[in-house]
Amino acid sequence: MGKQITRRDFLKAGGQILAGGIFFSAVSMVIPRVAGSADGDIVNSKWQQTWAKQTWGFVVDTEKCIGCGMCVKACKEENGVPMDEEVFRTWVERYVMAAGGQTHIDSPNGGLDFNAITIDNAKKSFFVPKLCNQCDNPPCTKVCPVGATYKTGDGVVLVDGERCIGCRYCIQACPYGARFLHPQKKTADKCTWCYHRITKGLLPACVQVCPTGARIFANLQTPGNPVSRLLETKRVDVLKPALGTEPMVYYMGLDKVVV
Ligand code: SF4
Ligand code: SF4
Repeated sequence: MGKQITRRDFLKAGGQILAGGIFFSAVSMVIPRVAGSADGDIVNSKWQQTWAKQTWGFVVDTEKCIGCGMCVKACKEENGVPMDEEVFRTWVERYVMAAGGQTHIDSPNGGLDFNAITIDNAKKSFFVPKLCNQCDNPPCTKVCPVGATYKTGDGVVLVDGERCIGCRYCIQACPYGARFLHPQKKTADKCTWCYHRITKGLLPACVQVCPTGARIFANLQTPGNPVSRLLETKRVDVLKPALGTEPMVYYMGLDKVVV
């Protein structure tokens, strides 16, 4: 990938939300693809053999996200999520906090269509990318009546589209809004950290295309990997920790208003 765009570069270019809006040209990035199904959710025996060698880690640095939405677009393309439907495996939220204490939160078209907004007395704004947290104690898997959703040996929560009956129990059980009913397949769908890619040594599509490095992913068993370095040296938070779901997506720079 070329030179990374820093938040400072972006702001210098006039991309502040409240001033000029966000104008990102539709940059088309070529990302390495892997052969096989876009659903990629059904575990095959080859993947199972490598479970012991993999412990995945995902960090989101909210201070680097510029709300360009490239991750959202890349995810949809990679995973067969219809571009013209309001369903997302990953999305980006915008938080604008006013001096009076009110917080405006939006995510137009999952973060693909941010426009300039004007909030009186705005004092702070930032973006928060969201996705399935691959919880270590996932409530979504426990409610499935047919065992169609499960956790793999290397810690990723998947959906077996062949078994799913589309009852939506798991969608209701997820406290993060990370699941949806696929409009065409009529089965539950969600982020898999691009399991079909990571098990072949590639990055998730959203991580691959992020121009600022706001999404960081690695196999924690690889010596010197960037995620372990961050987890050892930076303060990180998870979403809704009180629920006991034990999320495995770690956030850097997370504001306390984020839910
Ligand atoms: S974020 Fe939601 S869908 Fe993902 S593992 Fe946790 S409970 Fe399940
Ligand atoms: S996470 Fe990266 S690709 Fe996604 S909106 Fe933020 S800066 Fe853009």
